[in-house]
Amino acid sequence: MIHATVEDEQRVRGVAAPPTSERAVTSGGNLSYHGGTGGIGVETAPKIYLVLWGSQWTNNDPSGEESILNNFYGNVGGSNWSNSVTQYCQNVPTGTVYCNGAGTPAGNPHGVLAGIWYDNGAPAPSRPRQSRFASEAARAASHFGNTTASSNASVQYVIATATQNNSSGFGTQFCAYHSWTSSQYGNVAYTNLPYITDAGASCGANFNGLGAKAGITIVSGHEMAETMTDQFPGSGWTDSSGAENGDKCAWISSGQGASADVMLTNGTSVPVQSLWSNAFNSDAGGCVLTYPWARRPTSDESGDATVIAGVLAIRGPEGGDVRVREHRRAA
Ligand SMILES: [Zn+2]
Repeated sequence: MIHATVEDEQRVRGVAAPPTSERAVTSGGNLSYHGGTGGIGVETAPKIYLVLWGSQWTNNDPSGEESILNNFYGNVGGSNWSNSVTQYCQNVPTGTVYCNGAGTPAGNPHGVLAGIWYDNGAPAPSRPRQSRFASEAARAASHFGNTTASSNASVQYVIATATQNNSSGFGTQFCAYHSWTSSQYGNVAYTNLPYITDAGASCGANFNGLGAKAGITIVSGHEMAETMTDQFPGSGWTDSSGAENGDKCAWISSGQGASADVMLTNGTSVPVQSLWSNAFNSDAGGCVLTYPWARRPTSDESGDATVIAGVLAIRGPEGGDVRVREHRRAA
């Protein structure tokens, strides 16, 4: 876990460094719904706002992270990879494990990247604390005109710090984390996204042979998918130990759910980790890189399905059961 204020401790969900050896640790079981915060548990119509925080970004992006994030967030919506979030929902009773069409599901639409803010008029703190991310997220909400609780209900702000200007603990205690804060604009979900390549292999460089920059999309994808399914951490979808859909599948290096390249909707391939699917392996649950779009039979069909893209998710052809968790480094 990361160091956090008492108030924030239960709100933060981070992705830590890869374990030094592969582990299958947690037996927290499938994800279940925890009732939401103010009725909000998932992102029903997700929007991502990327904030490049501070003048330290100016002409200073040695890994090309801005363009990698722009491509990833800009084209991940609607991908088969992120589609597993659509099996989770809100407006269902606490303890629900399978939505089965009840409630309102998390969305996976195209075009989730709603804006980028180059907030470079002044330097960001060189070692920003969590409270500074919270206030920057609220500033971003104002910047983008999301000034009501309802306008922030399905929004996440990704606060990206420039190279060598990351929070203390990055690379040793965490690779990124997501959290939320109350504000005059309602509850605001945000991610502390450090300059991932600064941490090298500790945050995914060359993980599974996926390239020196693999950690950028592995880690940002982890936090994105977790925020979509646990908007205000702990009150959305987690397992019995508090692990989210990204935590349970972090840093798997072989077998079912191993990190790999997946295709985005523009045809580019990016490295990602798998995400937890309750529906995997006949509802036993497991880590998946794809989750099929809905196939809903029409009334005059007797068996074969007609594809109605984006309507409703069904369970995938999945098998196996790999679980790891990553909130602590290997001893
Ligand atoms: Zn996580």
